[in-house]
Amino acid sequence: MGKVTGFKEFERKTEPYRDPIARLGDFDEIYTEHDWDHLQTQGARCMDCGVPFCQSTNGCPVDNLIPEWNDLVYNGRWREALDRLHKTNNFPEFTGRVCPAPCEGACVLGITNPAVTIKNIEASIIDNGFEQGWVQVQQPAARSGKKVAVVGSGPAGMAAAEQLNRAGHLVTVYERADRIGGLLMYGIPNMKLDKQIVERRIELMRSAGIEFVTNTDVGKDVTLDELRKQFDSVLLTTGATEARDLPVDGRELEGVHFAMEFLTANTRSLLDSNLQDGNYISAKDKHVIVIGGGDTGTDCIGTSLRHGCSSVVNFELLPQPPEQRAEDNPWPTWPLIFRVDYGHAEAEAKNGDDPRQYCLLTKGFVDDGNGQVKAVKTVQVQWTRNEEDGRWQMQEVDGSEREWPADLVLLSMGFVSPEHYVSEAVGIELDERGNYQAAYDQYVTSVEGVYAAGDCRRGQSLVVWAINEGRGAAREIDRYLMGSTELP
Ligand SMILES: Cc1cc2nc3c(=O)[nH]c(=O)nc-3n(C[C@H](O)[C@H](O)[C@H](O)COP(=O)(O)OP(=O)(O)OC[C@H]3O[C@@H](n4cnc5c(N)ncnc54)[C@H](O)[C@@H]3O)c2cc1C
Ligand code: SF4
Repeated sequence: MGKVTGFKEFERKTEPYRDPIARLGDFDEIYTEHDWDHLQTQGARCMDCGVPFCQSTNGCPVDNLIPEWNDLVYNGRWREALDRLHKTNNFPEFTGRVCPAPCEGACVLGITNPAVTIKNIEASIIDNGFEQGWVQVQQPAARSGKKVAVVGSGPAGMAAAEQLNRAGHLVTVYERADRIGGLLMYGIPNMKLDKQIVERRIELMRSAGIEFVTNTDVGKDVTLDELRKQFDSVLLTTGATEARDLPVDGRELEGVHFAMEFLTANTRSLLDSNLQDGNYISAKDKHVIVIGGGDTGTDCIGTSLRHGCSSVVNFELLPQPPEQRAEDNPWPTWPLIFRVDYGHAEAEAKNGDDPRQYCLLTKGFVDDGNGQVKAVKTVQVQWTRNEEDGRWQMQEVDGSEREWPADLVLLSMGFVSPEHYVSEAVGIELDERGNYQAAYDQYVTSVEGVYAAGDCRRGQSLVVWAINEGRGAAREIDRYLMGSTELP
């Protein structure tokens, strides 16, 4: 273990983000340079638990060997820490930046003290690995002669492609967008995950023999049946791209957009022209309302502030979470507590207030007379628990109607399911939520040789779960193609 008395001697200290006002002036990453000595000290806090809950079912979804690399970092053995990290996670530079870190929520130290800074340590191991030139192209030892098509290039598709390529199969990844990466590229904004970091990994994969085909919409430019004829197996990793809509009065007005229209166009324009081509939805000098929270809501707030919006308000339907775990949310479950994410901190630094307003139900959008939104109508709601079945019930509060000035409204209420045009022609079965029906850890759909993984199978989730599923699907496809598998 790190240092026997480390958890008693040292306090948890996360690496700071850049100053919120300074970082609003650019779309560069919010993180500061790693302080290696500091990270070694934080590694010393790990207790090397007999049962490391950081790796349990409540903890890390890719089963990262956390206590092992905490100890290696504490002892300055960075190269070995990197090798351990890559054993379970293809892309720690992504999770080390964007993962909400369920491992920290489950860390045993968290019962009595603040958890080990696992996420910071993960990011530092991989960033150091790239800096030292230790992360190299991994060519397969031999080719199997089998070909696999992966549809969708998000973290699930990328992880699967890398694993299948390592097993010797020839992999072609089809992506309908103009750049590879899925939501790593065109969802999560640059300040949270620099796109050069995504490109760097894609280049390594390309050099290892994986083919990436962009601007190709499977189901439109090429059919799934055609891919099934050309390849020995097909994996669908198309994401949960059907956004949840808000069908209230005025939804059709100018200025009301899905969050993804706003975020995607912003990153594309940033990468194409440093926002000089004007091909994005600008929040400059606008009153912005973001409806819905989560990562997407935060990213809309951060992006609007960088454009120079006049104001930004974030509506949440649910009440403000408690500061500490509630009784029905004990360790090691994910702590449902009040958190201040980067966008909230930036709004507070700029405008003096946290942008979130709780228990607000949106009733409609108001027309300015020219088809452009000028306000959002809301009503306050109250949540009470039904004594009989324990379910939460929502009630509108009489007389609490209000109008909020708005020039730009961003709908960030989550995603419903994958789009189905890819699979309709071959009739892949769906589950009750509209996701591809395929058992977890097996990933095979109702159509022989066709597999599904990531958000299109499990529903809207996290990057780390997409990596977990991509790896698992690769293992099962390898087994299907070869009769047995050595992939983890
Ligand atoms: C704005 C936003 C911020 C987020 N922030 C975080 C975060 O901070 N941390 C975190 O862990 N998770 C975050 N998430 C969730 C995370 O990004 C997803 O869970 C993850 O990317 C899912 O990976 P995936 O590979 O299954 O699908 P995706 O990343 O959605 O990739 C699917 C890809 O398939 C392509 N595709 C779809 N249909 C076709 C077709 N017919 N032909 C060809 N290509 C197709 C799409 O264009 C897309 O590129 C965020 C999500 C959003 C929307
Ligand atoms: S649960 Fe926390 S303290 Fe225990 S091994 Fe994992 S990181 Fe270390």
